[in-house]
Amino acid sequence: MPSPEKKASVIVIGSGLGGLASACTLAARGHHVTVIEANDWLGGKAAEWREGGYRFDMGPTILTIPRVLKRIFQEAGADMHARLDLRRLDPQWRCFFEDGNQIDLQQDVENMVQVLEELCTGDGEGYRDLIAASRNLHDISEKFFFWKSVGGIEDTLDLGSSFTLRTLRDVLRLRMDSTFAKEIRKRIQNPQAAQMLDHLTQYVGSNPFAAPAVLLGIAHMQMHDGIWYPMGGTRAVPEALVQLATELGVAFRTKTRVRKILMKNQRACGIETQTGEHLAADAVISNMDSVRTMRELLHDVPTKKFEQKWGRRKPACSGVVLYLGLDRAYEHLAHHDFVFSRDPEDEFDSIYNKGIPAPDPTCYLAAPSKTDPSVAPPGGEALYVLVHTPWIHAGQNWQDLFPHYRQVILDKLKRCGGMPDLEDRIRVEHHLTPQDIHERYSPLRGAIYGLASHGRINGAFKPANRSKEVAGLYLAGGATHPGAGMPMALMSGWIAADCLDQDLKTSGQL
Ligand SMILES: Cc1cc2nc3c(=O)[nH]c(=O)nc-3n(C[C@H](O)[C@H](O)[C@H](O)COP(=O)(O)OP(=O)(O)OC[C@H]3O[C@@H](n4cnc5c(N)ncnc54)[C@H](O)[C@@H]3O)c2cc1C
Repeated sequence: MPSPEKKASVIVIGSGLGGLASACTLAARGHHVTVIEANDWLGGKAAEWREGGYRFDMGPTILTIPRVLKRIFQEAGADMHARLDLRRLDPQWRCFFEDGNQIDLQQDVENMVQVLEELCTGDGEGYRDLIAASRNLHDISEKFFFWKSVGGIEDTLDLGSSFTLRTLRDVLRLRMDSTFAKEIRKRIQNPQAAQMLDHLTQYVGSNPFAAPAVLLGIAHMQMHDGIWYPMGGTRAVPEALVQLATELGVAFRTKTRVRKILMKNQRACGIETQTGEHLAADAVISNMDSVRTMRELLHDVPTKKFEQKWGRRKPACSGVVLYLGLDRAYEHLAHHDFVFSRDPEDEFDSIYNKGIPAPDPTCYLAAPSKTDPSVAPPGGEALYVLVHTPWIHAGQNWQDLFPHYRQVILDKLKRCGGMPDLEDRIRVEHHLTPQDIHERYSPLRGAIYGLASHGRINGAFKPANRSKEVAGLYLAGGATHPGAGMPMALMSGWIAADCLDQDLKTSGQL
C-alpha cells in the first residue's frame, strides 16, 4: 500500500472520454496510469469513419460546455485553445416540422423571446422565465451535483448532518414534483416550440415526459456556454486528450478486454484480461458502463442485495445512425438540424414505453461541411443522421429491422427535410444499429447515453464515482454521475480521478 506521499499505479478500463479525462487528471497529479482498451482505437464512442474523401464523427457531434474540457487541460497546465480550434455555432439547431414550419434555436435569449412571441403571444415571456428557472436549476447543480461524487440525494445535501433552511429552499427549487416536459408546457403554449425544447433531454437519451425538472438546467448551459464544433470534428477531442495523456506518461494498451477486477482484502488490486493476464494496480477506474462493471467484472463480490441494486438500473435510449456521403450539400440546412416527428408524445411513448422504433421518428442531422469543408469532397456533404430508438429489447433483431427503418428515415427526410433527391445523392454509406453500438462500445443494451434519467427524484442521480461497495474502485463515464454527453462524461472522469487522488492524500490508503 503506498504511503501518502507516494504516487499510485492506476489502471483505467476503457478509453472513452471519461477514461481519458481520468487518465489525464491522474497523470497530471503524478500518478502512474495504464489505460486498457478493448477496441483498436482510443476514444470510445467519439470514433470516426472515413471513406472516399468523406469524414464522419460516428458518435457525438455536438460539443457543449467546453469549460469542462478546459479544466482537464488546465490540470496539466495545458491550454485547450492552443490544442483545439473550437468554433461557436449559431443558430444552434435548425428545426423542421411536418407542416413546413421552421424554427431556428438561437443562443441569444432575447432573440428567441422575439421569435417565440411571434409564434404565440405569451411564449416570449414564458421562454424568458424558462431560462431564468433553468439558470436557477443549473446553479443548484453547480453547488450540489457537479465536480464531486454523488450517488443520491443523501450525497448532495448531507441531509443528516447539516439540514438548514437554506438547504430546504434549495431542495424546493429542485422542483421534484415536476417533469421536464411539464415545466416547458407551463410556459410555452406553441406545440412546435415545446417539442423543440423537449429535445434538450435527448442529450441524456431520456423521455422528457418522465425526466426530472432539474434537467431543465441544460437549457441555460446550452444558451450560456454555447454549442461548439472542434475543427477536425468532435474526434479532435479524444485525439487531443490522448496526445496530452501521452505527454504526461500514460501508457495505453488497445485490443485488450478486461474480464475481471482483481480483489485482495476486499479491495480492487488490479485486473485480469480476456487472455488471463494479470496486471496489478493500487486502484482501478472503470470507464466501462457502470452497471456492467459491477455485474460482470466483480466476480467475487455480488450478493443478492447487490444484484438487486444494480439489476434495477435501466439504460437510456439507443439509436440508428446513418453516415451518408453526398455529392451535394443542402443550402437550407444549418450545421445541426432536427426534422421533427408529427406527434412527440406518440414518438416518446413508442421509444420509452412500448420499446419499439417510432413509426414517425425525429431525425437529428449534422451537416458539418459549411463549418469544416474538409469533411467532404468539394460541393459534397458528410451528412450524419441519428434517430433515437429503444435500447435493445428481447427478441429485437436489428439485422432484420434495419432495412425497413433506414427507408422510414430516408422517406421522412425526403418528405419534411427538404431533400427529395437525397437517395440519388448518396456516394458512400455506412450505418450503426443498436446492436452495432452494443458490440462496438460495450454499453448496457446498446444505450448511447448511459442510464435513463427517469423518475422525478431518482432520475437526476446516477451511480457515484467512488464505488460504495468496493474500496479502490472508481467509476467514470456516461453511465455514472453526473451522466452522459461529452461534458458530463469528461466531468465524471475528472471526479473519479479526483476522488482517488483525495483518498490517497487523506488516508494514505487508496
Ligand atoms: C451515436 C451517438 C451520438 C451521440 N451524440 C452526442 C452529442 O452530440 N453530444 C454529446 O455530448 N454526446 C453525444 N453522445 C454521447 C457521448 O458520446 C457519450 O456520452 C460519451 O462519449 C461517453 O463517454 P464514456 O466515457 O462513457 O465512454 P464510451 O465512449 O462509452 O467508451 C467506453 C470505452 O470502454 C471500453 N470498454 C468497455 N468495456 C471494456 C472492457 N471490459 N475492457 C476494456 N475496454 C472496455 C469500450 O471499448 C469503449 O472504448 C452520443 C453518443 C452516440 C453513440
